[in-house]
Amino acid sequence: MEPIKKILIADDGKKFYVRNVSEDFHTQFGFIGKGILAKAASGDAVKTNTGKVLFAFEPSFIDSYNRIKRAPQIIPRKDVAAIIAETGIGKDSVVVDAGTGSGALALFLGNIAKKVVTYELRDDFAKVAAENIRFLQMKNILLKNKSVYEGIDEKNVDVVTLDLPEPWRAVDAAAKALKAGGFIVSYSPTTPQVSDFVAAALKNKGLVLVKTIEVIEREWEFNERVVRPLSQQIGHSGFLTFVRKIHK
Ligand code: SAH
Repeated sequence: MEPIKKILIADDGKKFYVRNVSEDFHTQFGFIGKGILAKAASGDAVKTNTGKVLFAFEPSFIDSYNRIKRAPQIIPRKDVAAIIAETGIGKDSVVVDAGTGSGALALFLGNIAKKVVTYELRDDFAKVAAENIRFLQMKNILLKNKSVYEGIDEKNVDVVTLDLPEPWRAVDAAAKALKAGGFIVSYSPTTPQVSDFVAAALKNKGLVLVKTIEVIEREWEFNERVVRPLSQQIGHSGFLTFVRKIHK
């Protein structure tokens, strides 16, 4: 997948994603001749050959993120937000993430952290994630196609995120990789997974349990006088458990 170079938006909100700005670009409203898009700045109106006006803008991270390929289930944004807000991941952070899956969490973290190293066991998922990382042109994400249960190579890490079936098997490796004060965040759909993860974390004397949370988001519809929660919602995604390393 070529990275997205420009987005065109019609007045009804319909979007077009342009990957090659040096060729004619075809839409259902006619085409935009080559050369026009290469010159269009953000906010510029461009016209198709039939006279339809579209507005051009540069894609932001989220525009490209919305077009990634999905292999296994990706983590919902509400949970990504809580991981970032609870651990304070930022421009100086080094993060280890496992398993990569489609790379959704790794991409969000890569967008704000200094460096993300992400581990994926399966070759087929690693391929999809590698493609997504290239698609978003993220240079600070390193993908390792191996099991995180075998160990973590990195040291002095700020946060380790675990989104895999048996997170308790990665606790000791994660604790070793972390700097004192660093966090492990485990994301699991079921409570037995949470219990086993917490038990493993508490066995490690260098770790303390911070908390387990479930983030609930309710989207509402606003349509004239029909103002109410949407009747179809995400019911449940997963629990987030935060533990912190206090000493070696
Ligand atoms: N957080 C990801 C989704 C992860 S799905 C996202 O937001 O896109 C869980 C992934 O963990 C799967 O891809 C699975 O293959 C991987 N996995 C399972 N066991 C693993 C292990 N021991 N080491 C690394 N990855 C593993």
